[in-house]
Amino acid sequence: MTNWDHTTDVLVVGTGGGAMTAALVAKQAGLNVLLIEKTEYYGGSTALSGGGLWIPNNYLLQRDGLDDSLEKARTYLKNTVGDRTPQALQEAYLENAPEMVKYLSSNSHVRFHRSVGYADYYPERPGGMADGRAIEGSPLTGANSVKISNNCVP
Ligand SMILES: Cc1cc2nc3c(=O)[nH]c(=O)nc-3n(C[C@H](O)[C@H](O)[C@H](O)COP(=O)(O)OP(=O)(O)OC[C@H]3O[C@@H](n4cnc5c(N)ncnc54)[C@H](O)[C@@H]3O)c2cc1C
Repeated sequence: MTNWDHTTDVLVVGTGGGAMTAALVAKQAGLNVLLIEKTEYYGGSTALSGGGLWIPNNYLLQRDGLDDSLEKARTYLKNTVGDRTPQALQEAYLENAPEMVKYLSSNSHVRFHRSVGYADYYPERPGGMADGRAIEGSPLTGANSVKISNNCVP
């Protein structure tokens, strides 16, 4: 094909949390981004979800002086998930999930707060915690919302 409807540096398929985050990072890296969505609504399953994020060793937990670490979270996953998912995937999550929420809270309108008192599903297992790893997005007012035009992340 030589004739394209649109050309862009990065084409992001879908508008759920994964897609929106990828689009934001690409845009802030100075790339042109086009988000496409197959339904008439933005947001995918993410927009329907309960919005709870399980993020071990997150910055809110560190701020509030709760005791967590990469190693502790690794122990919990080992005793909870084991080898049911690839080790490399678990490691990628442990290392990048805390960075992801920090990035979003510094580079977007999204803010997070701790779901205080919301325990890990198995807090009694090695590495488990009774509080701290569950966070959620704080409500936005319309005044803070991001304008989206031409289906592109501004
Ligand atoms: C009721 C409910 C509650 C939930 N609560 C939680 C919770 O509290 N905590 C939690 O961690 N998880 C929760 N989940 C799961 C979580 O919402 C999903 O795992 C997560 O949102 C998936 O994000 P995603 O970005 O991968 O995909 P999605 O958010 O599903 O986004 C995918 C997007 O891609 C679009 N798309 C697909 N194919 C194409 C195509 N060919 N062209 C263009 N667009 C396309 C879809 O229409 C959609 O918009 C919940 C799920 C549901 C349904």
